[in-house]
Amino acid sequence: MSLRTLPILEIKGTPIERGRQQGEGACPQILRAIEHYREIIPKALNISWLDAIREARKFLPYGEEAFPQFVEEIRGIAEGAGVAFHEVWTLNCYEGLTEVRQQVWGCTCLAVRGEHTAAGHVLLAHNEDWNSIDRDDVYLVRAVPDDGPPFIGITYGPLLVNIGLNAEGIAVAINSVYPTDGRVGVPRILCSRAVLDARTIGQAIRACVPKLRAGGYSYLLADRHGELYCIETSATTHDIHYGEAGWLVHTNHYLSPRMQAVEEPGTYSSSHVRLNRARRLLGAQLGNVTAASLQAVLRDHVNYPNSICMHEDPDDPLYEREATLASLVMDLTDGIMWAAPGPPCQGEYTAHQL
Ligand SMILES: [Zn+2]
Repeated sequence: MSLRTLPILEIKGTPIERGRQQGEGACPQILRAIEHYREIIPKALNISWLDAIREARKFLPYGEEAFPQFVEEIRGIAEGAGVAFHEVWTLNCYEGLTEVRQQVWGCTCLAVRGEHTAAGHVLLAHNEDWNSIDRDDVYLVRAVPDDGPPFIGITYGPLLVNIGLNAEGIAVAINSVYPTDGRVGVPRILCSRAVLDARTIGQAIRACVPKLRAGGYSYLLADRHGELYCIETSATTHDIHYGEAGWLVHTNHYLSPRMQAVEEPGTYSSSHVRLNRARRLLGAQLGNVTAASLQAVLRDHVNYPNSICMHEDPDDPLYEREATLASLVMDLTDGIMWAAPGPPCQGEYTAHQL
């Protein structure tokens, strides 16, 4: 059996040049994603595609004010793929488009620093769980920007790269969270892209919490010195948690009491199970953690199919089928990203040097 691997694109230059190269290189993935979301948005968000585009336009002035260079990158992605800017912009605003909550989507992140790892390295691991319709549209990007540090990361379809590792030794992974204070503002994907531009952990933290943001993620941040932070955010508030014990795990519910005050009521059962399971598995290997041992955590099947290695449930409607689309282990010390297509129990991790 031949195992799939994720394609990788090389991009460089100014924001518009990088965007064009991403748009050209990922044109098939981008066209397919736009076609899928034209179909999915009316079902998942209960608004028409044209209304979604109209709604997304309201976010544009906020994005341009906070992060004009990344809006430019999105313009380039549209140009490179030969599609309308507003269609690409709409997908980059997707998670902020409606107050009608879709199902709780996943993602599991773990960070661990030197004293707990076999080689003394800082490692950050992430399972990217999302709609399985995007499975074939995931790719890696290796970038050499004119205006920021080189980075390697993953994305899908026409989205900005939003999870990855940069040459300053800063890495970011994100979890969807479910606050009730969403509004028109700076789309959250611009913030996670901005973390990849950070040269210090302080800049990375600031990138997560610009003024007038539309919503928030929980960001797991790490630097090569072993500084580990979890920044839980919503549109109007945030909380900063430091990884004092030398390791952190996060899934899709808020851990901070301040943030729980704005969280949509729910049981978040899959999120709790994945969090506790990942903590337990990581806890058992502290002192001996390696990229391979984290990959084993990311392939865990307890609570299948809603496990850390998430599999789609064929009983769910097409637009609500969740699966792990890609799986990553980043070594901040050596600047290596191990990446596997999802679900990782069926894929092979390949090492990519920054
Ligand atoms: Zn699996």
